[in-house]
Amino acid sequence: MNITDSHLHLSDLSQNDFSFIDDIFSVDGVDKYLFCTSSHSLSDYNMTCQLIKNIYSKYDISNVKICHSLGIHPQNPDINMTSLLENVLKYEKYDIKPDIKYDKLLTKYDILQDKYDKISAIGECGFDLFTPEFKSTLDKQKEVWNAQLELAIKYDKPIIVHCRKGMCHIFESIEKLKKIKAVIFHSFSGSVTEAISLRKKGVNAFFSFGKPILNGNKNAIQCVKSLPLENILLETDSPYQTLKGEEVTNPSDVLKVYEQFVKLRKDENEIISNQDVILKESSILNQLNQIFTEENFNLINSISENFCKLIN
Ligand SMILES: [Zn+2]
Repeated sequence: MNITDSHLHLSDLSQNDFSFIDDIFSVDGVDKYLFCTSSHSLSDYNMTCQLIKNIYSKYDISNVKICHSLGIHPQNPDINMTSLLENVLKYEKYDIKPDIKYDKLLTKYDILQDKYDKISAIGECGFDLFTPEFKSTLDKQKEVWNAQLELAIKYDKPIIVHCRKGMCHIFESIEKLKKIKAVIFHSFSGSVTEAISLRKKGVNAFFSFGKPILNGNKNAIQCVKSLPLENILLETDSPYQTLKGEEVTNPSDVLKVYEQFVKLRKDENEIISNQDVILKESSILNQLNQIFTEENFNLINSISENFCKLIN
């Protein structure tokens, strides 16, 4: 069975502690694990490339597959990052070394010689208007958003969207979004109506859900229950998006997200709650072994199939 986590941050996790991969494979029936890690600065990108190499030196690529996305996060809308992003994309497209234009930062840029340094998607990009501080940078957010949409069109890459309280700006960009290969809404917080409307308007949109579905988030739960299966993805956003009482989100929490997803899609009454997740760690493995069964094989694998269709 394949498990796909469409969004996490490898460089923000405990460095070189890859035991989460073993944890995921400890569940009966799970034999493939794919995840997409996001970077938002040059140092973050370089560190992630190194971590990806470390994982591939330890695990077989036929079991573990890693995708890497790079983007300008709306919480730090630095337009200068656009050159870095374009250099990485250019390198991949023409298979050449990047031009050393991105001022001093690029002198450290020798790592991009390896096939594992290429990126599969642009992002996180989008809008974050959650706090007054973030709101004050709206103009800059718009500028980096538009620049990234242009790059996604030019280099034919999917984008990973981070959007908090900014859905109206997403809808303002429909014409550009329609030209993009795939638009993945990470931790989608919109409503079912908004999700369907995006698709109806011709955007190849996918909606990814994580721990909010374990935390009673009504919009996310409703979306997981009722959106077409082929438009749904799952994620952890680890180490972020912790539940109450947790210090970090571990990538292996993707199993709990899958468990909830299966229950929601099958409309079972006994939906797991936040409490269950935190209190009954020891019995969780038993519960999971009941979820990752032959019966749920197609449902579980559909998530990986969706992801593989839109990213490579
Ligand atoms: Zn994230």
